[in-house]
Amino acid sequence: MFDKILIANRGEIALRVERACKELGIATVAVHSTADADAMHVRLADESVCIGAPPAKDSYLNIPAIVAACEITGADAVHPGYGFLAENARFAEILEEHDITFIGPTAEHVRVMGDKIEAKRTARALGIPVVPGSDGPIDDMKEARSIARDMGYPVLVKAAAGGGGRGMKVAHAESELEPAIMSARNEARAAFGDDTVYLEKYLGRPRHIEVQVIGDVLGNAIHLGERDCSLQRRHQKLWEEALSPALNESERARIGETVAEAMRKLHYRGVGTVEFLYEDGEFYFIEMNTRLQVEHTITEMITGIDLVIEQIRIAAGAPLSIRQEDVRFNGHAIECRINAENPKTFRPSPGTITHFHPPGGLGVRVDSGAYAGYTIPPYYDSLIGKLIVHARTRNECLMRLKRALGEFVVDGIETTIPLFTALIAEPEIVDGNYDIHWLEKHLANP
Ligand code: ADP
Repeated sequence: MFDKILIANRGEIALRVERACKELGIATVAVHSTADADAMHVRLADESVCIGAPPAKDSYLNIPAIVAACEITGADAVHPGYGFLAENARFAEILEEHDITFIGPTAEHVRVMGDKIEAKRTARALGIPVVPGSDGPIDDMKEARSIARDMGYPVLVKAAAGGGGRGMKVAHAESELEPAIMSARNEARAAFGDDTVYLEKYLGRPRHIEVQVIGDVLGNAIHLGERDCSLQRRHQKLWEEALSPALNESERARIGETVAEAMRKLHYRGVGTVEFLYEDGEFYFIEMNTRLQVEHTITEMITGIDLVIEQIRIAAGAPLSIRQEDVRFNGHAIECRINAENPKTFRPSPGTITHFHPPGGLGVRVDSGAYAGYTIPPYYDSLIGKLIVHARTRNECLMRLKRALGEFVVDGIETTIPLFTALIAEPEIVDGNYDIHWLEKHLANP
């Protein structure tokens, strides 16, 4: 097992990883930018190293500074969290070259799944159903028009290097195809330095359903059920549920086993999420994330499995601590992303939190680095915490969520809490009857 882990991240996820390390008796090293010197993940770590200026490229994405921080502190492994360097294959390789363990899959798996075109090819070859689309990158307009015509409109232009919903444009008719390709390319070039795009059939009313998987170095892989992340704005998740209110037990077992079998064939190591769109009883692979997800918490609540502890044990070479037949889904869990944003316009609302009182009680979990007096810096994403509730049934879970949201006090800044309070009153949310477009339509016509 590792003696000391450096956490190459910030905010709630850095804290989440520190908690797992402490329970394993492993020392922790936090890294931070000059803007984060007062952050909770720094205060609660055993040691901390300042790695640069506020912009992420100078600090949380600064590989030489992070490697130097490992050498100075003697850390023998790095947990990347999510975002920043979590899906950077080169980072994983550089760490290995320095004899530091990257807590994640092999660099090769990170690379293959990081390119969405490669990922779709790989998924198809492993027997996973994929969204119909161009089988490779789009090189010229003539070819694009012909593929789109064959698939039928609307079509979605997506960036091969995409992430965070960027570089994605819908074309409803042929006249919109060229502008959509141009604008997706421009966005992808600016965001990822790679303007490769491809086409996909645009699904009209799917749900976003993702399967959590976990594999070890011995070639074992199991699934931990699914999460339903259909409530999204601009392709960004805001509310997640486990299990999905839309799947029955046999659909769950079928897609779970398909994915677990694919991961065994791939010899996938660590935690991962295989994302699907689900419409009319069919699953369509869209991408795989080779890291811990923001919403991993709801899977933990219903399975009782600490995914970060598993992740660390597997990186140290241990076999999976659970077998598929021992996995039980217990009750229902919902996560709400508490963002420092105006709940109507979604404009970021950085600033100083004057009062902070997180809810508590049975079945309530708050993962957050926020505290009274904390000033949210404007440089990073607006997620300041996650409210997770767990109960025996979905209905009890909704009541508990309503109660917990009512207790949550965050003064001094605006947050998405009022949005969630309003959503709970919507009949479609109560019924679990929503697709990936529901929230945007609802926000447009409240
Ligand atoms: P990113 O990596 O940028 O998050 P994804 O491929 O995971 O991109 O897609 C993000 C979201 O975009 C999905 O959850 C879904 O809401 C929407 N989306 C992606 N592909 C399609 C599609 N083919 N049809 C309709 N919506 C899609």
